[in-house]
Amino acid sequence: MMKKLLSILLAVGMSVALMGCGGSPSVSSGVPSADSSPLHLAQAGVLTMATSAAFPPYESYDGENIVGIDADLAAALAERLGLQLKIVDMDFGSLIGAVETGKVDLCMAGMTASPERAKNVNFSTSYATGIQAVIVGEHSDIRTVEDLYAMLDEGKDLLVGTQEATTGYLYATKSVEEGGFGENHVVGFQNGAAAVQALMLGKIDCVIIDNQPAKEFVAANRALRLLDTEYVSEEYAIALPKTNAALEEAVNQALAELLEDGTVQTILDKHIHAAEE
Ligand code: GLN
Repeated sequence: MMKKLLSILLAVGMSVALMGCGGSPSVSSGVPSADSSPLHLAQAGVLTMATSAAFPPYESYDGENIVGIDADLAAALAERLGLQLKIVDMDFGSLIGAVETGKVDLCMAGMTASPERAKNVNFSTSYATGIQAVIVGEHSDIRTVEDLYAMLDEGKDLLVGTQEATTGYLYATKSVEEGGFGENHVVGFQNGAAAVQALMLGKIDCVIIDNQPAKEFVAANRALRLLDTEYVSEEYAIALPKTNAALEEAVNQALAELLEDGTVQTILDKHIHAAEE
């Protein structure tokens, strides 16, 4: 019996290797997946977390390591679940697909639990709040979000920079009636840093991005200023596959414990300095 199971597992393992992807094969004929534990992980014994490590203080590189709030929280979750942690870095726009296909077990990327994304993934309970903020150049006349609309009214050639595939991009590209600036006035960049770079070169008028990374960009560069106005407030959560109820339950349970015992708050405080709040 054991021998048979082992050979099935080996065969499955080999076919995964041959397919050249780390994900569990879809189980259609009662054959166990690569991870035969109830959590059906992409890799047995390992919590594979995807992120996009250009979003400090949630995730960024420190040398070769990915550090930040999400990295620490993922490590705490993995520990609770008795698993090793593996962090996989990718473009922000690829994260949802990686979770959907089971290539990774979950993603944590300062990701807003938006209704659009909830069509493709499930979200855990929220572990942090994000606010969309507006960055301008230090000498800019723009003081409030209303000033941006005034520029549109005056027929000025307003250009708003955002990171592609983010909620900031989604809001900004909506029509003025819906609270955005219209697609023609929005430029999408591959990451926040590239948008900020374009702002410093005077190619765009402002950048809309989540407030914590916004603060980091402004703190690192005197030529930038953060507007006082908050644009939109949102909840960050962990994205999980729609088809893995056991994993979702285990993650929510572990997260509830980490929220309850103050671990989440300690992690947030470690990376977000109270004085900035
Ligand atoms: N919170 C934003 C979103 O979910 C931005 C996240 C990010 O760029 N990492 O779209």
